[in-house]
Amino acid sequence: MSREYVGVLIGRQDLGETDRVLRFLTPDAGRLSVVARGARRSRSPFASADLGIRARITVEEGPWELQRLQGLEVEEARVGLRADLDRLYGMLHICECVAALSREQVAEPRLYGLLEMALLLLEHGEGDAGPTFYRAFEAKALSFAGLTPMLVTCPICRQILQDPLVWVEGTGAAHRACTEGETLSLAWVDAVEAGRRQPLKEVFGRPLPPGPWDVLIRMIEAQLGRPLGSRLAGPSVLG
Ligand SMILES: [Zn+2]
Repeated sequence: MSREYVGVLIGRQDLGETDRVLRFLTPDAGRLSVVARGARRSRSPFASADLGIRARITVEEGPWELQRLQGLEVEEARVGLRADLDRLYGMLHICECVAALSREQVAEPRLYGLLEMALLLLEHGEGDAGPTFYRAFEAKALSFAGLTPMLVTCPICRQILQDPLVWVEGTGAAHRACTEGETLSLAWVDAVEAGRRQPLKEVFGRPLPPGPWDVLIRMIEAQLGRPLGSRLAGPSVLG
């Protein structure tokens, strides 16, 4: 029996000599990992399935552990994201974060909406996406996964945050008087929390007060159990 889905390609992994596992995020079926047989052969219709595309896919369901991809029709190629290295890295980052925070075959309509909006803005927004865009995206994605970073009250004393602050790994910001950690400012914390609560399109290009660029990325990496590949882009693109 076969089923059709629409999804965004958020991950690719080689399998054996010629096959590839493609990971899609779909609105209703969550993350879907399918085997694209022969996808590493240049003549395969699946060879050009690039990260970030939205495609209509036909999947063959069977007794196999992983479902098999039968057909793929690209709905949105996002060519504008592939012409600019910064945007390409941004797209890789967004796809990797979503792959890390989604669950196999658990519906993720809000995460799917966030993914589509982030890719749309990255492709068509004017100028650089900027640090508030990436921190707001990461904080929203963490929140949808039930891992909302604490950016309003101190996790130790439960009082409202006030400078001086430190970062508590995997949790959020805390008073320096309450615990130890990397120093950060209330201005940064407030700006990230405001971005988390606002529509993503409103924070595109918005500057961010100085602060740590990868504390939210580390929270996502903790879910994945390894560093994100997009980390290589560094703070000049994602910071
Ligand atoms: Zn405190």
